[in-house]
Amino acid sequence: MKTYRIATIPGDGIGKEVVPAGRQVLEALAATGAGFSFEFEDFGWGGDWFRAHGEMMPANGLDALRGKDAILFGSAGDPHIPDHVTLWGLRLKICQGFDQYANVRPTRILPGIDGPLKRCKADDLNWVIVRENSEGEYSGVGGRVHQGHPIEAATDVSIMTRTGVERILRFAFKLAQSRPRKQLTVITKSNAQRHAMVMWDEIAVQVSRDFPDVTWDKELVDAATARMVNKPATLDTIVATNLHADILSDLAAALAGSLGIAPTGNIDPERRYPSMFEPIHGSAFDIMGKGLANPVGTFWSVVMLLEHLGEHAAAARVMQAIEAVTADPSLHTRDLGGTATTAQVTAAVCARLAATA
Ligand code: ATP
Ligand code: MG
Repeated sequence: MKTYRIATIPGDGIGKEVVPAGRQVLEALAATGAGFSFEFEDFGWGGDWFRAHGEMMPANGLDALRGKDAILFGSAGDPHIPDHVTLWGLRLKICQGFDQYANVRPTRILPGIDGPLKRCKADDLNWVIVRENSEGEYSGVGGRVHQGHPIEAATDVSIMTRTGVERILRFAFKLAQSRPRKQLTVITKSNAQRHAMVMWDEIAVQVSRDFPDVTWDKELVDAATARMVNKPATLDTIVATNLHADILSDLAAALAGSLGIAPTGNIDPERRYPSMFEPIHGSAFDIMGKGLANPVGTFWSVVMLLEHLGEHAAAARVMQAIEAVTADPSLHTRDLGGTATTAQVTAAVCARLAATA
C-alpha cells in the first residue's frame, strides 16, 4: 500500500486549529479504505518558534520538507511580530525555496452557502484564480533611504521576467483547457503600467497560439472587480499577477460566502519540490482558541492536495463529504451565520467519509 509523506505546518492563530482538523480528515479517509496511507510529520514553526529562536523556521528547514509528497500549511501571522517578518520568514520562504510558482485558488458557491450576490445562481460563480507566486510585486526587491527625514524615500520594485510570466500563463492556459468551459481571462493593468504589464499582454498572445481550443480575453484589474460582482458567469479561469490575484481572490472568497471556505495550492507544476496546500485565510487571532474557525477552507485544500497526489477518487469523496456538510445549516460555523464549532464540522466530514466508505 502506498504511503504518502505529508508535512503539517499549522503556523499561527487558527492555523493551529484547522490544520489538525485537516489531518483528521486525511486520517479518516485513509481509515475508510482509500487504498493508501499517510505518514505525517508536524513542524511547530511560526510565531512561537520566532520567540524561542529569533526566526520563523530553522535555516535548514527546507531540507526537512524536501522529501515530502506534500505540505499542509495553516497560517503565518502574529500580532506581536510585523506581518512582513512572519510572511517572508515562513510562507514565502517555502513558496520561493520550492519554486511553487503557481498559486491556484478555486472558488465556487458550495451547497447550502449564501453568498452576498443575491442575483447569482450557484453555477454562475465557479472560478479558478491562478496567481503568479514567485515574482512580480512581491519580489522583495526595494529599499528605504533617509529613514525619518523629510527626504525619506522607499521603493518596492516589481520584477517580471519573460520566463516567469510565460510559465504562469502556460500553466493557466493548460488549466483552463482542462475545465469544461475552456475559458481564460488574463488580467493586467497594462493601460497604466506600461512596461511589465504590456509584456504580459504580448506573452499571453504568444502562449495562446498553443491553446487554440481555449477561448480567452483580457481585462484590466479594476474592471475585473466589477465584472466579478456584476457578471460572475462570464468568468471561468482567471490568471493575474502576484498582487492583483491576491486581492481578487479575497474578493472571490467573500463572494462565495466566506474567507473561511476558500482553499489554495502553491504548486510546483514541474514536481521538483513538494507543493503546499493551505486555506487562503490568515491567522485570525480574533477568533483563535474558541473553536469558531471554519475548517472548510482547509478541507478543500486537502482535496487539492489529494488531486495533486493523483488520488482523484479520494479527492472527489472528500469534496462530496464537504458539500454534504455545508448543505446542512446546522453545521455552519459563525462566519456563515451558524453556531457549529470547528470540531463539530470536522467530525461531520469524517463521519460522512466513514458512511460512504
Ligand atoms: P493574517 O494577519 O494572518 O492575514 P488576519 O487577522 O488578517 O490574519 P484573516 O484570517 O485574513 O485574518 O481574516 C480576517 C477575518 O476573517 C478574521 O479576523 C476572522 O474574523 C475571519 N476569518 C478568517 N478565516 C476564518 C475562518 N476559517 N473561520 C472563521 N472566520 C474566519
Ligand atoms: Mg490578513
